[in-house]
Amino acid sequence: MPNPDPASPPAPRPSLTGSVRRAFGRPARLLWHHRLAVAFGVLLVPVYAGVQLWMPGLVGRTLDLLSGSRGDDGRSELATACWLFLGLGLVEAASRFVSRRLLIDVSRHVEEDLKNELVGHLQRLPMPWFDRSRTGDIVSRLTQDCELVRFVMGPILLHGGTTLCILPAGIWLMASMNVPVTLAAAGVFAVLMLTFRAVMPRLHKWSKRSQEAIAEISQQAQEDFAGIRVVHQFARVERERAAMATKNRRYLLANLRLVRLRSALNALTHTTSGAVLLAVLAVGGHEAIAGRISIGQLFQFIGYLGLMTFPLEILGWTIAMMPRAYAAGIRIAELFEVEPESAVGATPELRGSIRVENLTFTYPGAETPALSEVSFALEPGQKLGLVGPVGSGKSTLLALLMRLYDPPRGTIFIDGHDLLDLAPAATRALFAMAAQEPFLFSDSIARNVAFGQLAPPATDLDAAVEAAALDQDLPQFPAGLETLVGERGVTLSGGQKQRVSLARALLSERPGLLLDDTLSAVDPTTERRILRGLVQQRRARTVIAASHRLSVIADADLILVFDRGRVVQRGSHATLLDRPGRYAAAWQLQSEASALEGGEPA
Ligand code: ADP
Repeated sequence: MPNPDPASPPAPRPSLTGSVRRAFGRPARLLWHHRLAVAFGVLLVPVYAGVQLWMPGLVGRTLDLLSGSRGDDGRSELATACWLFLGLGLVEAASRFVSRRLLIDVSRHVEEDLKNELVGHLQRLPMPWFDRSRTGDIVSRLTQDCELVRFVMGPILLHGGTTLCILPAGIWLMASMNVPVTLAAAGVFAVLMLTFRAVMPRLHKWSKRSQEAIAEISQQAQEDFAGIRVVHQFARVERERAAMATKNRRYLLANLRLVRLRSALNALTHTTSGAVLLAVLAVGGHEAIAGRISIGQLFQFIGYLGLMTFPLEILGWTIAMMPRAYAAGIRIAELFEVEPESAVGATPELRGSIRVENLTFTYPGAETPALSEVSFALEPGQKLGLVGPVGSGKSTLLALLMRLYDPPRGTIFIDGHDLLDLAPAATRALFAMAAQEPFLFSDSIARNVAFGQLAPPATDLDAAVEAAALDQDLPQFPAGLETLVGERGVTLSGGQKQRVSLARALLSERPGLLLDDTLSAVDPTTERRILRGLVQQRRARTVIAASHRLSVIADADLILVFDRGRVVQRGSHATLLDRPGRYAAAWQLQSEASALEGGEPA
């Protein structure tokens, strides 16, 4: 999913600051929520950095003093220096501990906040976006990429301050002692910085490839294991394994490139420390021989360099990791930039009178309309039946009523309001839907039925289970309603899953019930039981049932017969049977089939 919305025009190339803001603006804003902890943690940095910077001076002065003093005087100077050293060491350790804890904790909190915001945002995205997106890619952005942002943010917070304190202060302290030695050290540092700059674009390129490769791996793993039965049935194990191996190799190659680049930078940083020491010894040695610097000062100089090595290495590490974090930040930002579904709109109390006028609808990106010039009206409490072959547009009509996709303006009206003027939540609160291929969560049957309700009364739960004829299966489940159903309900039969979905819809007590071929996998006897139960349960409920089995919709007030998106016949069961046509022919066929199976006529 390189571009989350392929339909949108390419954005103009952003400036560098614009891109950095795009990648890290949100984490920075979340960081602001923890500003007190950050401020306290950062304020402690100069404390231990100052102590660290003081120590080489202390050692240097003590060395110079010792070389000029003898006897008790020398011993007492030494004792004072040691006590001071110990005291300062304790202050440094304590302030470093507190600062580290605060700042690393903050980076973890920011990661948590970022993931929560991202999940909240994803849940508000419109259905057409999900049609084009891949779950594995979304998951990898939500997990890996968020972690990467934190992975860099922690050390930047922790060591950024130290580096900012120690590097300039160290250079200033060194320069105030001896300029030529300082210039020699700074020259070597400058070479290192220029090398970093040159390597950055390549680091960025391979970081991006590595992250894309891991997203592809998660996508395939997710599909392979969710569809493991199909993979085995069609003997695709070897092919899937080979495809995964190719993706793994792509990931490996990208990472090997990254490791090579990072190792080179790491080695360069270490070599630079050695080179700086060499430059300081060479130039400083000359200065010492010429008497412009004492041995204690030279020692102090080397002490400062030792202090600057770690911040320098961290700087190198951060620079090397930055492109990965940047790529991750951009991948996260891409998700946040997808426009969420508008939640605005009227939220009147809806009774559920439905009017559809001349509705023609084409899916985004599709060429032919899924529905053409469909019109009907339905009063609250009435039942509408939709029949027609697979792909004739029945589910599309239900999806539009649920506002999973936006219909054209002026085509669907609920209680006189254009559907587009109502808040999506308002129409969704009107209808409960039971699908042909329901999605079950890996939880108990009871919690799948009660999905969306915290603690429904047990009597309501039992009534819904009974109305969906799920009660007859309970003895075969080891823990009854508390039986766990496995991922996506894998341990249930197709018909049982459909009935769980039906019970879920019945329990939700919404004024409208949308049945999308919900009983297709249910045997005829159970189907009749459910239909009888539904009539009693229906009360004032509006029901729209799409079904290829005519028995499900025979009692409907109005039946629409669909073919390729168009309504080709309409009327009640009785009127449709009176006319020769598709409906009468299909009824004849299904009655004969039902009689052959030994059941009552459909
Ligand atoms: P039915 O429920 O009658 O089997 P559908 O409403 O599912 O039919 O499908 C009607 C047409 O719309 C079909 O041609 C199908 O391929 C197409 N279609 C369904 N869902 C989508 C989608 N999300 N994106 C694009 N086309 C779709």
